Amino acid sequence: MSLRPTLETRRATPTMEGAGVHLHRAFGFRDPSELDPFLLFDDFRNEDPSKYSKGFPWHPHRGIETITYVLSGSVDHGDSLGNAGTLGAGDVQWMTAGSGILHQEMPKGNETGQMHGFQLWGNLPSSLKMTAPRYQDVRGTEIPEVIDDDGTVVRVVVGSFWGRTGPVDGIAADPQYLDISMPPGVRKTFPIDTYRRAFAYVFEGEAAFADASRPAGVLLEKEVAGQEVNIRDMSGDRTLIRFGSGDEVTVQAGERGARFLLVSGAPIAEPVAWHGPIVMNTQEELRQAMADLRNGTFIQPAH
Ligand code: MN
Repeated sequence: MSLRPTLETRRATPTMEGAGVHLHRAFGFRDPSELDPFLLFDDFRNEDPSKYSKGFPWHPHRGIETITYVLSGSVDHGDSLGNAGTLGAGDVQWMTAGSGILHQEMPKGNETGQMHGFQLWGNLPSSLKMTAPRYQDVRGTEIPEVIDDDGTVVRVVVGSFWGRTGPVDGIAADPQYLDISMPPGVRKTFPIDTYRRAFAYVFEGEAAFADASRPAGVLLEKEVAGQEVNIRDMSGDRTLIRFGSGDEVTVQAGERGARFLLVSGAPIAEPVAWHGPIVMNTQEELRQAMADLRNGTFIQPAH
């Protein structure tokens, strides 16, 4: 087994999207090869409805898939396929924009005004950029939850883990998307297939991720006594950890425990031409998408 090095640890940055939604972006609109097949990850979390309720009114997407995971509050959605519904706490929506979709996503707070959700963008390979759009809503109750002896809880949002398989499938990036809660002080190793590109995103408590690539540095001596790996500083709320190659990661939960997403996928390794909500392979395909938007031909007729 080989431990994945932590290539980078960084905080999500505040940004504004849609019609004025305050959110934190862990990555996106930087080097798209960094976390290929993933393009963007946003953390929508707010307790002030004026900072999210204007939502994301009608907008187009082409060439990507989005995975929305709601933790509290809800998101009303509608799209050009005629779908409409509400994602509640614990629910997941996977949307394949493919050749083109217009949709809107309108967050709503819970009874105390809290709203929390994540949106991950997965790239589509050139062979599927213009595939027919489709989407899938998954209720939180359908998502497998595995509880380990040490109290660690893993929700298998997408993909397979510890013998359980989440209900969302058919995503080109082949994601494994886990929502992991670890009790205080627990230390654990999670396997991640070598071919996958992987990141973690801490959103409750704090966690330290062992790093095989560094010589002795800042060690948390109490927890790692007798261990050969180097566990660096704790990563707190809204921290992205980008992993290098290997086949496992080791995590140490802090005094308040830790909750984080552990996400990985198969790199697509193709050129990326990206303009806002449209991600293609070439500038010519981007120009075509813009022309289609102007000409009213963005939404392809159903086959
Ligand atoms: Mn959207």
